[in-house]
Amino acid sequence: MSSHKQSLLSKIRGGLIVSCQAEANEPLNSPEILVALAKSAISSGAVAIRAEHPDNLMAMKQSLSVPVIGLLKRKYSDSEIYITPTIADAIEVLNTGVDIVAIDATLRRRPNAENIAHIVQLLKQRNALIMADISSVAEGRRAAQLGFDLIGTTLSGYTGEINRGASEHLPDFELLSQLVGELGHQVTVIAEGRIWTPEQAVEALRLGAFAVVVGSAITRPHHISRRFQEKITAFQQLRKSTAIGVDLGGVKTALASVTADGLCDHLAVFPTQWKKGTREVAESLIAAIKSVLKKSVDKPQAIGIAASGRVDPKKNIVTGGVALANDYLGYPLSDHISDAIGLPVYLENDANAAAFAEFEQLHYPRPDRFALISIGTGIGCGIILNGKLLRGAGNAAELGHICVEKNGLKCGCGRKGCLEMYVSRKKLQEEVFKIVTSDYKQRLHPLSKESTDTLIELIRSEDSTILSIFNRQLDYLACGLETLHHIVEPEQVVIGGEISRLGAPLLEAINQKLYFPVKISTSQLGNNAGLIGAALLALKRHFRIDNYYT
Ligand SMILES: [Zn+2]
Repeated sequence: MSSHKQSLLSKIRGGLIVSCQAEANEPLNSPEILVALAKSAISSGAVAIRAEHPDNLMAMKQSLSVPVIGLLKRKYSDSEIYITPTIADAIEVLNTGVDIVAIDATLRRRPNAENIAHIVQLLKQRNALIMADISSVAEGRRAAQLGFDLIGTTLSGYTGEINRGASEHLPDFELLSQLVGELGHQVTVIAEGRIWTPEQAVEALRLGAFAVVVGSAITRPHHISRRFQEKITAFQQLRKSTAIGVDLGGVKTALASVTADGLCDHLAVFPTQWKKGTREVAESLIAAIKSVLKKSVDKPQAIGIAASGRVDPKKNIVTGGVALANDYLGYPLSDHISDAIGLPVYLENDANAAAFAEFEQLHYPRPDRFALISIGTGIGCGIILNGKLLRGAGNAAELGHICVEKNGLKCGCGRKGCLEMYVSRKKLQEEVFKIVTSDYKQRLHPLSKESTDTLIELIRSEDSTILSIFNRQLDYLACGLETLHHIVEPEQVVIGGEISRLGAPLLEAINQKLYFPVKISTSQLGNNAGLIGAALLALKRHFRIDNYYT
């Protein structure tokens, strides 16, 4: 390596290179302004500047003390290549006195069918240092063979194909890692493209980038403003929108029109006919949604459905859990309803939806670690960490299926000894009414209706036999809560589901059993938490608003 190259690389190693460029029609497009931007970046520690156009490059070389990577953008009718495309363009850039000349080194055809090897050869004869802007490993390989001094991931996503694992919004860390792994020993690899945050810049260095180029995030105010404006506009649209929220339960279905503030209107509740199969359930849901839509003054923007089981958040289908009907798992519920109604449909696990709705009710500052435990047909659980639902691949936070009795009762999930086989509203009802219908029948008359209201009244009666059943079940719930404590240590736990209407006696009983003190409260939204959460999450996904609630 020449001493010239060595000295230059030592100046940029591990540093931030700031790209100061402006399109021809942008207000910032003048050498004076771009030099001022560059000086500002250098005053904060930028180790080099990347810039475009001979006028700007000459101005930079006159006024800046750090190395300048230069390029020229020019369009030709016979090629898509526009970063320093031709030999003449490269010479023009080199003649401005820049330290490194950046060239598009993709495999695309060059203007006038010029040969990239020839361009490299000519620049090398003039002792120029050259940087290859590439978009794939194959292009990186060729650039290294040709003798480029630096290789940048600059053009990832710009040549028609995007690398696996990359997205239009994120840096192409996969390409960077592959280039470093394969070519890092022979050529200097620079990370460039879609680096928007300091954390991403650090990640690029951690993956082995020699230095990091950041442009738009620092020196393109119209890009930065647009990012803010797009989110603000989406949020304003969300704020005045409504969604249909559906809680598709094992026994009944509830749906309503829900505002962005979580207020419900046109609530409808009817039995879910799982025996007829999921297709039939979907058809009756479609009819119910149409009826709510007819009554709604503001046209809802989306439909959110809270469903039991493992919900794949990407595919938007229930993929596992207890099958409520033979065709429940894998049924294209969202597509079926979306096609019939003409609105986007988003599916969410019911406990996750309820957790989100309850979390939304909390005032700032909200807890970093929050959980909802719903005591219903089974035990549902939703966990929110740092404002985000813990979904895993759809099966995270399934507290109802942690094992509390090895080789215990067989659960609907196929395993044995799951928590929800020992505590749930359903279990409590079964055990309590077994007694009520025999020995206690006469004494407790007329409380013969087997409803949650009756159950709550029976527990409040403080009958010792009933309390012993209740306490035995809560022992298991406390066991589940302590496991949760040891894994995520929630700052706040909300107990939901119908049984939460028991209120203070329930909380006191649980608290007495806990080894670790946890802030526990009962649900504020009651039975509507699931459908409200499903609607709010649908709006959030529809308008692509992340973390507006944190
Ligand atoms: Zn289970």
